[in-house]
Amino acid sequence: MTKGPDLLIFSDLDGTLLDHDTYQWTAALPALRALRRIKAGLVLASSKTAPEIAGLRAQIGFDDWPAIVENGAGLLPAGTQAIPEGGRYHAVRAALDRVPPPLRTQFCGFGDLDCATLAQRTGLPVAQAALAQQRAFSEPGSWSGSEQDLHRFLDHLAAEGIIGQRGGRFVTLSFGGNKADQVRSLTRQYHPRHSIALGDAPNDIKMLEAVDYAVVVANPHSPPLARLKTEQAGRVYRTTAPGPQGWNDAILTLLSTLTFKGT
Ligand SMILES: [Mg+2]
Repeated sequence: MTKGPDLLIFSDLDGTLLDHDTYQWTAALPALRALRRIKAGLVLASSKTAPEIAGLRAQIGFDDWPAIVENGAGLLPAGTQAIPEGGRYHAVRAALDRVPPPLRTQFCGFGDLDCATLAQRTGLPVAQAALAQQRAFSEPGSWSGSEQDLHRFLDHLAAEGIIGQRGGRFVTLSFGGNKADQVRSLTRQYHPRHSIALGDAPNDIKMLEAVDYAVVVANPHSPPLARLKTEQAGRVYRTTAPGPQGWNDAILTLLSTLTFKGT
């Protein structure tokens, strides 16, 4: 077991640490500096790929911590910008090649598109779309067929050990793993005295329920997040401000209430 920090934080990015519209995070600077001062760990957790997260992680000054990438299908180790080794993206793509063509052609994965078309379909800038295509663990794609065919398609992949997880716009194929699995495994590894997770969307709920204190960051673009299992125990903090401002407020408030070694 690694000798742990007093505090380990897990944070979603879009709509949580990053502003929903501008992708800015500077409103969270006071809290980020406070975390540095007490040598807390910060693990970013997102649907983004390793190359998409690596630059941001370095900018905010926490590249000495691993990041949870591709929605928890894998980890970007601490201190590297390289695509993680040992990922099974190519195995996912190879399994797709073995699906019968009438089903396969109804799935359009990120790896089936050139960068410009992917940029157009996702609304990402072209440079960002290129980073989103540098995958190590999972293949998101859109499904254009019927619900019944989607089940048949996923049955073919399940026979090879691949699962499909549905998000808002995409079905993501991987050999498993989600944000909550990674949070639990990193918590076991680092064994922090306190753990906090921050998120804004339904796909963050299991991660928020896997830590000591959860922060639900307000997202004015979606309905409020349902009540968490841990809410009754008084371990859930809901922010008033959205995005990085809410992130900042919640972390500073929690830091003033938690006890740390030597304090
Ligand atoms: Mg989010």
